[in-house]
Amino acid sequence: MKVQTIGIIGAGISGLVAAKTFLQAGYKVTVFEKLANLGGVWEKSRTYPGLTTQNNRDTFCFSDYPMPQTFAEWPTAAQMRQYLQSYADDFGVTEHILFNTEVIHISDESLESSGNWKVRVNTGGQEKIYEFDFVLVCNGLYNVPKIPQIPGIDEFTNAGGQVIHSTEFNQIEKIKNKRVIVVGFGKSASDIASIAAENASKCDLVYRQAIWRLPKYLLGKINIKNILLTRFSESWLPYRELRGGEKLLHTIGKPIVWAFWRTNEMVIRQQLRLDECNMLPNLPLNAVDCSSGIAGDNFFEYVRTGKIIAHKTKITRYTSEGVELENGEKIKADIVIFGTGFRQDISFLPEKYRQKILNNQGHFQLYRHLIHPEIPHLGFVGYNTSFFSQLTSEVGAWWLLDYIEGYVKLPSQSEMEAEIQADYVWMQKQLNKTNDASGACISPFSLRHVETLLEDMGVDTKKDLWKSITQVMQPLDPTIYNEVRQQIQSKRRTEKEHESMKKLVSLN
Ligand SMILES: Cc1cc2nc3c(=O)[nH]c(=O)nc-3n(C[C@H](O)[C@H](O)[C@H](O)COP(=O)(O)OP(=O)(O)OC[C@H]3O[C@@H](n4cnc5c(N)ncnc54)[C@H](O)[C@@H]3O)c2cc1C
Repeated sequence: MKVQTIGIIGAGISGLVAAKTFLQAGYKVTVFEKLANLGGVWEKSRTYPGLTTQNNRDTFCFSDYPMPQTFAEWPTAAQMRQYLQSYADDFGVTEHILFNTEVIHISDESLESSGNWKVRVNTGGQEKIYEFDFVLVCNGLYNVPKIPQIPGIDEFTNAGGQVIHSTEFNQIEKIKNKRVIVVGFGKSASDIASIAAENASKCDLVYRQAIWRLPKYLLGKINIKNILLTRFSESWLPYRELRGGEKLLHTIGKPIVWAFWRTNEMVIRQQLRLDECNMLPNLPLNAVDCSSGIAGDNFFEYVRTGKIIAHKTKITRYTSEGVELENGEKIKADIVIFGTGFRQDISFLPEKYRQKILNNQGHFQLYRHLIHPEIPHLGFVGYNTSFFSQLTSEVGAWWLLDYIEGYVKLPSQSEMEAEIQADYVWMQKQLNKTNDASGACISPFSLRHVETLLEDMGVDTKKDLWKSITQVMQPLDPTIYNEVRQQIQSKRRTEKEHESMKKLVSLN
């Protein structure tokens, strides 16, 4: 594939690491970012007060760029911004970003010059067109705020009520001395409910289903990274293809697996006092889910003590004074904040390609979550949920670079299509049906996904990656992936040098 110029849509984690990867490999890179700053979901105008990562500091970084040890164990959004800004500056990415520039359409038709894609952007109200050989879509799975349509909104807002999404709650002042309703049960909703409990005059939480939230310290002592963020922890769930000890664990070892999950459920249930909160999830802890996460520091305590008034139901309509719930109850409110997640948007792609990429349920159908077999010169980074976003996006960017340079040996188109389908069907069967993640859910198996990508690139993961039992059992250390990448690149350099030597010798 002859590629020299790369257009990248988005300057979040995925866009930044993709830009750095391709710049280092000598490509001409342009990044389009619709906001005024980089960082994506961590950008200041999109984050709520008190937001921290769910990952611990040392597991949430690029493989060659550790987070400063002065950062909190669960870095704040401000620290994430600082980290990403310094990454972009240090690797010379910042100067390649066009801020306040939104990609509105890309097309591979009627090209006048040599580019494969025409990228139409809107910058400061003006439209411009750029051309690229290859485009990387890095616009994020958590991109367009999702607020459910509920009747009566005008009645509420005309009477002075406010309706916002969690990404619009950027200042505590917005809720000071107000009656707040928070909707949802995910990370944003539960975090914001806790903030409202501390700062608003009243906080109601309306949610449909409780999901498992994990305490930062199990039994108040064991950092959750030791349980959740190791390579070994992925083995407690059966992956599509079982390897080595996993085969034993999920056959004759089934009682051990069962006991592991039930013990953890029991501990979490008691530690967070879920029964007293009436928030025991219906599904078991091991129901594969891409939305469960870490419990906010005081969330369950506030529910238990009534600082957060929880309602397990849904809103049926707005009234002039607040909302009405399905059970007929009415809640008065000044502001309703939706922590109801996001939807993905690829409306800038031509319809003919959207039809290929999305199935009839609107779920992404991408090979390795990175390319579509029928659309050359287009790649996606970050189109997977992850417990380690930096790492999965980084390895995804390596894979795409190797794909362009011919180092990834792809199967035939029909084999890729069969693989996409098989993976999708398997995941849909595994998945907790309350959360489909648009066909992009991989997080319970993030490291297995990374291994698959590395194997496509020629890495023997058993031999080259997991060199000791400690590496497998300890919380993830992303630097081991950098070592593997360095090795593979130096091996290729040596091979190339041999090739050139051979050519020279035969010429002489
Ligand atoms: C509250 C919250 C907490 C999270 N915590 C964690 C965590 O602890 N661990 C973890 O692994 N993951 C976490 N995540 C997941 C998170 O999505 C990833 O951490 C990561 O930030 C995703 O990066 P991204 O670059 O793929 O997407 P984004 O961060 O969404 O970046 C996409 C960028 O593309 C830009 N863009 C979109 N459309 C266009 C367009 N048409 N033209 C130009 N620019 C465009 C956007 O403005 C944005 O800057 C969290 C997510 C949220 C919402």
